[in-house]
Amino acid sequence: MKHNFVIYNSLSRIKQPFKPLHEGMVGMYVCGPTVYGDAHLGHARPAVTFDILYRYLRHLGYKVRYVRNITDVGHLEHDADTGEDKIAKKARLEQLEPMEVVQLYLNRYHEDMKALNVLPPSIEPHASGHIIEQIEYIKRILDAGYAYESNGSVYFDVPKFNKDHNYGKLSGRNIEDMISATRELDGQEEKHSPLDFALWKKASPEHIMHWPSPWSEGFPGWHLECSTMGEKYLGETFDIHGGGLDLLFPHHECEIAQSVAAQGHEAVKYWIHNNMITIEGKKMGKSYNNFITLSQFFNGDHPLLEKAYSPMVIRLFILMAHYRSTVDFSNAALQAAEKAFQKLTDTYRRLGTLLPAEKSSVEIPDYIQKCYEAMDDDLNTPQVISYLFEASKAINSAAAGEIKLSSEDIAKLRHLFDVFLIDLLGIKMSDESGNNNASKAYEGAVDLLMEIRKNAKLQKDWATSDLIRNKLSELGFDIKDTKSGVEWSVKG
Ligand code: ZN
Repeated sequence: MKHNFVIYNSLSRIKQPFKPLHEGMVGMYVCGPTVYGDAHLGHARPAVTFDILYRYLRHLGYKVRYVRNITDVGHLEHDADTGEDKIAKKARLEQLEPMEVVQLYLNRYHEDMKALNVLPPSIEPHASGHIIEQIEYIKRILDAGYAYESNGSVYFDVPKFNKDHNYGKLSGRNIEDMISATRELDGQEEKHSPLDFALWKKASPEHIMHWPSPWSEGFPGWHLECSTMGEKYLGETFDIHGGGLDLLFPHHECEIAQSVAAQGHEAVKYWIHNNMITIEGKKMGKSYNNFITLSQFFNGDHPLLEKAYSPMVIRLFILMAHYRSTVDFSNAALQAAEKAFQKLTDTYRRLGTLLPAEKSSVEIPDYIQKCYEAMDDDLNTPQVISYLFEASKAINSAAAGEIKLSSEDIAKLRHLFDVFLIDLLGIKMSDESGNNNASKAYEGAVDLLMEIRKNAKLQKDWATSDLIRNKLSELGFDIKDTKSGVEWSVKG
């Protein structure tokens, strides 16, 4: 099948045909989590969005190197109360070694991602493990003349860079507007311009995580780690850089400036951003008290939640919107996703029990082709889901005996669900995280017994057929003979 995969590039602001820099291979960098707290819904959206892109690129036959970093050096967003670095503050409060705090939250992040069926990236580099590379990168920017040292810190010289290149090309902002919008902030007297950003920051005595450098004992600026680790693992130019829309400015704008300053050219071909999640129309934020962590979603333990929602329901909820649209969380929206999940999984199971007819009594559209077209059009997952629902109608009508389906059509529908629902959307039938293999084996074993019983019935071997039915019934299974086959479930 010929694919015409187009993807929206935030840099050109249009959908562009996807053509990697190197034939058959894709380099993809996605800004990963800052590990000083539990992952919340805002972490789930980029993780799921770029998981879909990763899965689709691999499905199209590309070899993908997917790098997702761990921000663990504490970036420049200081805690408002004390001005301390967030990881350092947690460490002081919880009496832990800073790297112990990092590992604690990283382990929990990995558990949440596994529950959401997000595939692990190829490389997950820590900013704290790349201090030497970041220092070398700063030296290159200094040598190029686009940075200066001030009181032990090193700042990127935005106005100077803007004279030679264009600062603001990704966000579409211009430097005069930015200057007039900037308020005087603490520590700014070190900078030549309020727009300049730190490449290296001298550590204050309270700051726990710090490293030696030619300029001071300190720590790297947040924007720097992504330019440095992107170059290290994907080369001076690579295909995709992704992240949430909240990172487009200043983080990604600064990354472009850093690469142009250090390398003399841009690093990234396609900039891809997922839109944000609001909670009942409001931005997520401390002041709204509406940060709901993923584990709270999974166990229902938050005042805004009417009940617990399983990881697969959260995943489907995210995929029911296009990644470039905003998504608003509400209990009603999640309950709609829960119903959709139940319907799709019931249909998938029913698909395994359909008895084929000689000929289909209705024409089944080519849903596989339609779903590929939807994925090729900037990963239109809501469109894929709506085709799966159309296909579900046909499957359920066949199960109810209202229409007939040929074995060829049943096989195509099965392929449709296997490829799009399971492999590409990454929806697992069983929602018990970590126990998927066991439940697959169990479902397969019961399906096999159904098959044996069906054959026994065809050969009028009633003894075997009744034995299987009665034994399974004793074990708590509900077996229903339908016009077109058999359905089973476990009695509630
Ligand atoms: Zn980043």
